[in-house]
Amino acid sequence: MTTPFTSTDDVTHFVSGQPYAGAGSQTQAVFNPATGAIARHVRLGTNDDVDAAVGSAAKAFPKWSNIPPIRRARIMLRFLELMNSHKEELAAIITAEHGKVLSDAIGEVSRGIDIIEFACGIPQLLKGDYTDQVSTGMDNWTMRQPLGVVAGITPFNFPCMVPCWMFPIAIASGNCVVLKPSERDPSASLFIARLLKESGLPDGVFNVVQGDKVVVDALLHHPDIKAVSFVGSTPIANYIYETGARLGKRVQALGGAKNHLVVMPDADIDKTVDALVGAGYGSAGERCMAISVAVLVGDVADKIVPKLAERAKALVIKNGIEPDAEMGPIVTAQALERIESYIALGVEEGADLVVDGRNYTVPGHEKGFFTGGTLFDNVRPHMRIYKEEIFGPVLSCIRVKDFSEAVKLVNDHEYGNGVACYTRDGHVAREFARRIEVGMVGINVPIPVPMAWHGFGGWKRSLFGDMHAYGEEGVRFFTRQKSVMQRWLDDTAKGAEFAMPTAS
Ligand code: NAD
Repeated sequence: MTTPFTSTDDVTHFVSGQPYAGAGSQTQAVFNPATGAIARHVRLGTNDDVDAAVGSAAKAFPKWSNIPPIRRARIMLRFLELMNSHKEELAAIITAEHGKVLSDAIGEVSRGIDIIEFACGIPQLLKGDYTDQVSTGMDNWTMRQPLGVVAGITPFNFPCMVPCWMFPIAIASGNCVVLKPSERDPSASLFIARLLKESGLPDGVFNVVQGDKVVVDALLHHPDIKAVSFVGSTPIANYIYETGARLGKRVQALGGAKNHLVVMPDADIDKTVDALVGAGYGSAGERCMAISVAVLVGDVADKIVPKLAERAKALVIKNGIEPDAEMGPIVTAQALERIESYIALGVEEGADLVVDGRNYTVPGHEKGFFTGGTLFDNVRPHMRIYKEEIFGPVLSCIRVKDFSEAVKLVNDHEYGNGVACYTRDGHVAREFARRIEVGMVGINVPIPVPMAWHGFGGWKRSLFGDMHAYGEEGVRFFTRQKSVMQRWLDDTAKGAEFAMPTAS
């Protein structure tokens, strides 16, 4: 078993290549959700701390942005090796603060590492276009240049993977970064900062300021921050997008979700049940790509619901560090309370509570933030438990008569992050992928998180801004294009030209 993360030291900021206690004295408790005990405290940053981090990044930028991309890529390669060799240690830190099971934490670190690997190809990704002889004696080319100091603001549910959606590409492209991780599980960010330093990254290129809204607002309003990449809940994403855009910054803000899995009558029942159980209850439903609604088409519901109920009751729920755990605790007591209040609301709204996960206790961990897997049937589109993101292990079943009704239901929802369709009919699958108004689609794949080079992003109120995270869109987000037209010597002495130049 991997050693649990035990440091009780305060989690600090990281500025100019070293841990930094910060100007303020405020801290916030960080819990071990499996025991309910306070494990350590995180420093809460101030405006002065943001100034210090942005100042350090701005100082590092001229030199870093001027280093040839291949040399930046070599530092990324060393970082890649270090991340691979410390994967289990980082995963144990994540499990200890987030609660997710260790194998899932290792998976999260691996998906983050994929993006670091992608960023190692930055010389190719930054390559511009060149057209020889656009006019007589004249050439035109484009280059992509970094923006300057950029900020990443990340949620609790992927303390390694989501920061990795941002900083490897931002840094490899020549930017300097200030990361504001979630205050609920902040330790992974410091571990990553140390590995970056060990990789040879110059001081100031990557900084971390811990904290809450105070730090977010200071970053948003800081004149030297050129771009903000945010991932979190929809109300905050909306706020970040509107504020950042008004202040003239480039913003991508990824928000919340309500992901459906449509089960067609011809689907393989057992494989679909496996998919729903893993995608609905894995990571205790605290994934933006978790499936929270099963859309059961035609008579499939009577075959699926009893099997889902059996599996939800049999989930192995315990401390995520235990090798056989399938589901760990919820991140905080407040999040647990919120999830369980949604279950009460579902009952009030008239949905059928088939399995009630409330008041779940794990022997020896009575104070841990545990809830069981919950299953609702006969949920209706007007209910709040359908419309709102619960972000916990609560799976709602909705019955529809046919494929068209299923597509309409999904398309009418305000969120459009992920969706899946289980079927054995290629035509249905193809129509589904084309007609569905959701950014990431799985055909017989429950959680279709795109690979590092494809880019991640939802539609509708799941993404504010027009560029997706990572992949080539990530490179575009963290760079700006410059077009250069050149002409040399003899041709320049034509005298003033007043007509629009053409390719003569
Ligand atoms: P959150 O919105 O509470 O927090 C996200 C970040 O915003 C954190 O760093 C937090 O400190 C900061 N923040 C919180 N309140 C703020 C405020 N009032 N003003 C400014 N900043 C504030 O989200 P969370 O609970 O940490 O994460 C879960 C949410 O993130 C879910 O809604 C989930 O769907 C979403 N999420 C989305 C994606 C995606 O790719 N679309 C990925 C992961 C998580």
